[in-house]
Amino acid sequence: RIVFEDVVKRFGKVSVLNELNFNVAKGERVTLIGPSGSGKTTILRLLMTLEDLSDGYIFVDGEPLTHAKNASGKRVALKPKEVSRIRKRIGMVFQQFNLFPNMSVIENVMEAPVHVLGLPKEEARARAQGLLDQVGLGNRGDEHPTRLSGGQQQRVAIARALAMEPEILLLDEVTSALDPELVGDVLGVLRDVAENTDITMLLVTHEMQFARDVSHRVMMFDGGRIVEEGVPDQIFGNPREERTKKFLRAVL
Ligand code: ATP
Repeated sequence: RIVFEDVVKRFGKVSVLNELNFNVAKGERVTLIGPSGSGKTTILRLLMTLEDLSDGYIFVDGEPLTHAKNASGKRVALKPKEVSRIRKRIGMVFQQFNLFPNMSVIENVMEAPVHVLGLPKEEARARAQGLLDQVGLGNRGDEHPTRLSGGQQQRVAIARALAMEPEILLLDEVTSALDPELVGDVLGVLRDVAENTDITMLLVTHEMQFARDVSHRVMMFDGGRIVEEGVPDQIFGNPREERTKKFLRAVL
C-alpha cells in the first residue's frame, strides 16, 4: 500500500503539490489525469525518489520512503541505504524510453538485476530473455536499441522495469512520444501486465480508453490537488466536478 501524507513539493518558491493526501491499495491500478502542469509527473518522480520531498511523508507498506517521523514526532530524512531498500521495489517507465545507448537490448534488461539485485549473469539473461519474449522482442536481444522503433524501444523499457520484479510500476505518459501506429503494441503489452500480474500501477496517460479499461480508479488533478476521484466509468461517464468536465471535453 502506498500512502501520501501531507506531501508538499516546491520548486524554488513555487508550490507544485500542497499537502497532498491519498492512498493506493496493493494491486490497485490508478490513473492520474489532469491538465499539463497539475503535478502528475511530480507525484511519480517523488515515488521513484527522483525528486526531493519538500515536506510530508510517503509510505510503502507502512515503511517510510525518504522521510520518517522519529520518536519525538520530528521529521527526519532517511539514509540513502534505507531509501534504496524500498526504492528497489518500484519500477518506472518514462515518456522518453531512456535506454542505455551503449548496451544491447538484452543487456539493458539485465543491467539492474545484475548490478542492483546481484543476480548471477546467466540467471539475469534467462529472466531478460523471458521478458523480451513476453513483449514480443525475443529475437531482438542482441541488437542495439537505436535500431528499434520507438514502440519497440518502449517495450524494451517496460521489460527492463519488469526485470526488477517490482511491486509498484510507475508509467509516465509512456506512449506520448510514439507515432500513433506504434501506440497499440505498447498498450497491449501493458494490458497483459495489468491482467496477468498483481503489480500496483500508477499511470499518467492521455490514452483515456486505455485508462478506462485497465484502471480501478482515476484521480483528476488540477493545481497540485485532487479535484475528483472515482471509478473510471464514473469519472469518464458522469464526472461531478465542472473542472473535470471541462478537462475531459478538451481531451476526448
Ligand atoms: P505534464 O502533463 O505537462 O507533464 P504534469 O501534471 O505532469 O504535467 P508536472 O510535470 O508534475 O505536471 O509539473 C508540475 C509543475 O511543476 C509545473 O508547473 C512544472 O513547470 C513544475 N516543475 C516540474 N519540474 C520542475 C523543475 N525541475 N523545476 C521547476 N519547476 C518544475
